[in-house]
Amino acid sequence: MKLAARVSQVTPSLTLAISAKAKAMKADGIDVCSFSAGEPDFDTPDHIKAAAKAALDAGKTRYGPAAGEPRLREAIAQKLQNDNSLCYGAENIIVTNGGKQSLFNLMLALIDPGDEVLIPAPYWLSYPEMVKLAEGTPVILPTTAETGLRATADQIRQAVTPKTKLLILNSPSNPTGMVYTPDEIQAIADVVVEKNLWVVADEIYEKILYDGATHLSIGAAGPEIYERTITSSGFAKTYAMTGWRIGYLAGPPPIIQAVTTIQGHSTSNVCTFAQYGAIAAYEGSQDCVQQMVSAFAQRRQFILNAVNTIPGLSCPKPDGAFYVFINISKTGMKSLDFCSTLLESHQVAAIPGVAFGADDHIRLSYATDMDSIKKGMERLATFVQSL
Ligand code: PLP
Repeated sequence: MKLAARVSQVTPSLTLAISAKAKAMKADGIDVCSFSAGEPDFDTPDHIKAAAKAALDAGKTRYGPAAGEPRLREAIAQKLQNDNSLCYGAENIIVTNGGKQSLFNLMLALIDPGDEVLIPAPYWLSYPEMVKLAEGTPVILPTTAETGLRATADQIRQAVTPKTKLLILNSPSNPTGMVYTPDEIQAIADVVVEKNLWVVADEIYEKILYDGATHLSIGAAGPEIYERTITSSGFAKTYAMTGWRIGYLAGPPPIIQAVTTIQGHSTSNVCTFAQYGAIAAYEGSQDCVQQMVSAFAQRRQFILNAVNTIPGLSCPKPDGAFYVFINISKTGMKSLDFCSTLLESHQVAAIPGVAFGADDHIRLSYATDMDSIKKGMERLATFVQSL
């Protein structure tokens, strides 16, 4: 059978594959310590579940507007105003089946064949694949430890060509946990405006910050950049709602309308009663977020201390998200080999950095319980010593 050419250019998700392998090993009774999934180990808070159950009982079981329930769009607009100083109304917002679909739809709406999209590396592994599926050209901007694995404004300026259309900015970052400082965001905003680009700000980890780090939404860095920004976010990471599949985009109405048209012909609206859970997430108490972030903070500290005692491994201190991105170059191994041997021989699941455009690193997610983290870090140390 001859499949469409676009499929042959796309790499299947390595994170999903390794998480699935670790789950299958667990199901076979093998004691696996999994650092693979980018998924909080907490259950969705009760008040969010209760709101979805009440919506189900109230008959919110039918098709709804493709762009989302009006009340949820208003709640999102309010949140963006309060937390991010982004002035949007409901007409600026579309609710999607997760941050992943937000970004995918956006690529379809913005990118023409041959358009270049700037992606700082290490990057979330779906970005280049989404760009390719939209027949655009991903342009990867490699970064180093010297700039904290963050792209600089100058680097972005130099990478711009007449074909450059869009910059993808992800802060806090998956996989590195790095957070761009407000000054860095401002400098990048200036380049985007100067070069007449678009920027999509993937802010899905914005609430997961440590040690007083601050998050500035690039769209709030001035009136001109506001006009050129699309903000992408969702409920999965902040409220432990990964399986609910609710994300959103906020931006200029013509882009939101284009994405709504695409969504209207692909998935229609997001599960109607689930959207009422999302309303409760934004309008209810935020204590649950604080509790989860405090737990992540403890695990982060433990894992960083542990990595620093393993000769041959090093890791910059992440200011956000729930990942550590460990440099393994001193072991002399490439990341895929490192991770598959680690899983086979010591039953520890980690994601090879090659999936994120950094083959001399591995990513550990600490969105898992402390006992598994302790056991897993001991096994990692034993494995590295054995090399
Ligand atoms: N953006 C980043 C950087 C992510 O890490 C993820 C999930 O891993 C997403 C977007 C998509 O999240 P979801 O589709 O679950 O809302």
